[in-house]
Amino acid sequence: MTTIDIPEGSLFGLDNLPYGVFSPRGSAPRVGVRVGDSVVDLAVALDDDVFARSSLNAFMAQGYDRWVEVRARIAELVRGDVPDAAVFGVSEVDLHLPVDVADYVDFYASEHHASNLGRLFRPDAEPLMPNWKHLPVGYHGRAGTVVVSGTDIVRPCGQRKAPDEAVPTYGECRRLDIEAELGFIVGVPSELGTAVSTEDFSRHVFGAVLVNDWSARDIQAWEYVPLGPFLGKSFATSISPWVVPLLALESARVPTPEQSPTPLPYLRESEPWGLDIALSVEWNGQEVSRPPYREMYWSPAQMLAHMTVNGASSRTGDLYASGTISGPEKDQRGAFIELTWGGKEPVTVNGEERTFLQDGDEVVISATAPGAEGRIGFGEVRGRILPATEAKR
Ligand code: MN
Repeated sequence: MTTIDIPEGSLFGLDNLPYGVFSPRGSAPRVGVRVGDSVVDLAVALDDDVFARSSLNAFMAQGYDRWVEVRARIAELVRGDVPDAAVFGVSEVDLHLPVDVADYVDFYASEHHASNLGRLFRPDAEPLMPNWKHLPVGYHGRAGTVVVSGTDIVRPCGQRKAPDEAVPTYGECRRLDIEAELGFIVGVPSELGTAVSTEDFSRHVFGAVLVNDWSARDIQAWEYVPLGPFLGKSFATSISPWVVPLLALESARVPTPEQSPTPLPYLRESEPWGLDIALSVEWNGQEVSRPPYREMYWSPAQMLAHMTVNGASSRTGDLYASGTISGPEKDQRGAFIELTWGGKEPVTVNGEERTFLQDGDEVVISATAPGAEGRIGFGEVRGRILPATEAKR
């Protein structure tokens, strides 16, 4: 038997207990929970086959009462001795995509980000569209290209046309960017023809991950009118391997910013799900931004209510992301297009002036939040840019 040591100040104490899918080198993926610098194999430790799977989906589908029960059992278990066969060092295992992603939606919930992008993409118009403060704007993304942290990102190719070019050309993206976001994962589905109320958010959503919504700005700028993002986004979306349960985020709850005009009744919340989560963006090892999630205008409960208000069903494994997290300050912007103001104001990274991503660049997004005892961590979402491999055309 093993007693798990939790280092002083660890972001993975008993008030966090994030779930992931891991494999000790050479064996099959299964569900584990992170405690300190260890991973506990839950199929072994709890003797339950629902965890002997390559995704969290089966467990997430069991519902809120089970999530509460299992979390309490894990806390009790790791306070005592855990069977040796169930404990691995986090550095000794491979981490996988934690969920089978069903549908993927991306919102646009930061007023600071939406205003900045509006100014950059439509300099002669009002930065916010007339609908923006009435509903959480979003689009359907590509679930099949959601990848786990550590997966290399091949620079996309596509059509792009700069404002000073007469016709579009095909070639590699010249304005490759990141979007630092938080993603929410649906555990309990909702039926076709029904809507999920803001009050039922925590009975449907299992937890949260970090998201990097890689964005090809030149492809996006040419293609997005009038139907929104398409190939400029769908080539890859990275998520962190640890799913922080919503149950661990109770201490991080804060009010959302004042919403004016008052949203329609289906978007109102008696206790808003604003979240005080502090993100950090590192570009080749240097921190370039600290986006504050608490600044987000729309809450994740409002996003889910809006996503289902037309009767669209939701499924176990649905992932919906917040949209780029940007605060009011320049060094709180969660995308390089904002940080460098469209490439006109370079930032200094390791002594070099930089605007968009170059081949070989690596971006790491991490986050922490207040937990019940100390701070809790989301881990990180990491990705490195590989040179383009031009598709046959
Ligand atoms: Mn996005």
